[in-house]
Amino acid sequence: MQFRAAILHEPRTALTIETIEAVDLQPSDVLVRVASAGLCHTDLEVIEGQLVYPMPIVLGHEIAGVIEAVGSAVSPRRRGERVVLSWNPYCGHCFHCERNQPILCETYIANGPQAVQFDGTSRLKLNGALLRTMFYIAGFAEYAIVTDPCAIAIPTDMPLDRACLIGCGVMTGVGAAINVARLGYGETVMVIGCGAVGLSAVQGARLAGATTILAVDRNHERLALAQRVGATHVAAVPDEDALAVARRLTGGRGVDCVLESAGNAPAFRLSAEACRAGGRIVWLGKTGVNEDVAFRWGSLMGEKQIVRSSYGGARPARDFPRLARAYLDGALQLDPYVTRHLKLEEINAGFDDLRAGLGIRSVIQFG
Ligand SMILES: [Zn+2]
Ligand SMILES: [Zn+2]
Repeated sequence: MQFRAAILHEPRTALTIETIEAVDLQPSDVLVRVASAGLCHTDLEVIEGQLVYPMPIVLGHEIAGVIEAVGSAVSPRRRGERVVLSWNPYCGHCFHCERNQPILCETYIANGPQAVQFDGTSRLKLNGALLRTMFYIAGFAEYAIVTDPCAIAIPTDMPLDRACLIGCGVMTGVGAAINVARLGYGETVMVIGCGAVGLSAVQGARLAGATTILAVDRNHERLALAQRVGATHVAAVPDEDALAVARRLTGGRGVDCVLESAGNAPAFRLSAEACRAGGRIVWLGKTGVNEDVAFRWGSLMGEKQIVRSSYGGARPARDFPRLARAYLDGALQLDPYVTRHLKLEEINAGFDDLRAGLGIRSVIQFG
């Protein structure tokens, strides 16, 4: 079959909309007609060349759509299901899967940098040549082919332009608070960085029962949004001293938990300084993998628990439906995230916004 996709041929060039070809489905594949695709910062890292992948490649990993066809080993009853796609296929029986760390699955880690399907082969072609697939999804296209367990059914009344956000940013942020930090009632939390992930961390903290949630960002609009979704206090850096605010709110001790989603050295340092002795720190942001980040050693002392998490401890089949349900119940706010709807042809304008730090999420709408 043939359909249109946004192709990245080389880093630091514009995506081009081209017609690509997909080979037949393998037995455990599902074919998803993409309805909505969020533009995530990780896509931008590939475009900018900070995250290196073979090319040409189809990016896009924050995806919702409808299952249109299934492979021979998948129940035909899945046709028509509305789904959010997970970018973490896992085998379930390797060293890390058996230790309940599917994000480290050996097959997932091995095939990820090749940008092929989970079975190590590609389904996509461009002009007869192999086309790469980012994060096992390649969702900036009219169709995506994923392995059956990566297509997670969600409630039928969930709007798909909100649902797609669950697939990456929302899962990562809410999951950091609930699955990784395991926040509880009455805890004090600092969230650094208020993009889609940070706003979701704020909401995860609120859902878990945290009663003091201090949001930190450079951007006043984002801080206002953080307050709208659950932050009880805000600090606008660099004008305000976020560490001093955290200490003032906690009798000088520092917060129980810091959820970091800004991904720069000052943010990582602040996370360590603002965490109380015995507290926990979850790093969600990232800098270049070969960059150094310096800390005051004393800030790392005091029995602090520091975790780096890339997908919020996601168990997508458990978490995606409950996040969708939380949205439908009014407990999880996603409407303010979607600051722009785009057509596939307008995708480069969406990345220009992301580069400039404008808005929270641009979502491509298909069909
Ligand atoms: Zn992402
Ligand atoms: Zn595995």
